[in-house]
Amino acid sequence: MLMEFGEDAKLLAGGQSLIPLMKLRYANPSHLVDLNFISGTSYIREENEALRFGALTRHAQIEASTASANIPIIHDCAAGIADVQVRNRGTIGGSLAEADPSGDWATVLMTLQTEVRCQRSKSDRRVQLADFIKDAYTTALAHDELISEVVVKTPPKGSGGAYLAFKRSAPVYPTASAAVQLTMDGEICKDAAIALGCVGLTAIKAKDAEGVLRGQRVTAKTIATAVEATRAVAEPQSDMRGSADYKRTLVGSLLKRAIDVALRRARGEQIEASHIYA
Ligand SMILES: Cc1cc2nc3c(=O)[nH]c(=O)nc-3n(C[C@H](O)[C@H](O)[C@H](O)COP(=O)(O)OP(=O)(O)OC[C@H]3O[C@@H](n4cnc5c(N)ncnc54)[C@H](O)[C@@H]3O)c2cc1C
Repeated sequence: MLMEFGEDAKLLAGGQSLIPLMKLRYANPSHLVDLNFISGTSYIREENEALRFGALTRHAQIEASTASANIPIIHDCAAGIADVQVRNRGTIGGSLAEADPSGDWATVLMTLQTEVRCQRSKSDRRVQLADFIKDAYTTALAHDELISEVVVKTPPKGSGGAYLAFKRSAPVYPTASAAVQLTMDGEICKDAAIALGCVGLTAIKAKDAEGVLRGQRVTAKTIATAVEATRAVAEPQSDMRGSADYKRTLVGSLLKRAIDVALRRARGEQIEASHIYA
């Protein structure tokens, strides 16, 4: 149908981004192709040391899934998106396809090895998430392609992650957010992945901060250095959610808290992490 109707046709998944844009007349597609009628597109499967999410899997399904709970940063993300109404409709595929700079999924999945399966009528290709998100609201998808599946590799033993966002209230996007995934070997951090949300046109990978932690003991000093490196890489814009300076300070504080939770989870503690509300 996408090939038949051309570039003016839009896919409809949960409608939680597209319908508000249409109401505001920012989007005016000639045709809507409703994915909700295609069976077998909503699932969570553990397979070959990976979690596979069908594109139409709702945030709420992921929040409730025990398989997802095994990767706690995924549960943090799903449970913190907006309110229950949005989570019951919104999908993981729609969220990545929308590439909203404030969207939670891209930030979180950037800290894991994530592949996006892009499907055409007769072929499909797998794109690493870092290559999939090109810019704000811009992805590697061609107009006749759709996301069919999101594949997340299970982190190795000794790993723990956390995602924390600061929000003015539940049904709004975060002011800033930080995602951390650590792999520990005893007291030493074997690997670290850090991504920042809402402080740039896309989620930002904080590579310098990762380098500060990798191969080191995670102490108050290394955390403080990582936080400084994070603030330097953030590129926030001033808007109704706060000034650029405020967001830069905020994202560092979120990172500090997220590292603490990730570290405790990597050591086997079962702890809840919830977003922080103003
Ligand atoms: C009040 C409110 C608060 C929100 N707060 C948050 C928040 O805090 N954090 C957050 O992350 N999100 C938030 N959202 C957005 C929500 O998570 C959306 O569900 C999500 O961004 C889009 O998913 P969807 O399934 O609703 O997609 P849709 O709105 O149906 O589609 C979005 C775009 O993706 C395309 N698309 C959809 N599915 C596919 C596919 N499989 N392949 C290719 N293209 C596809 C559509 O054509 C469209 O361009 C909020 C939404 C609302 C209404």
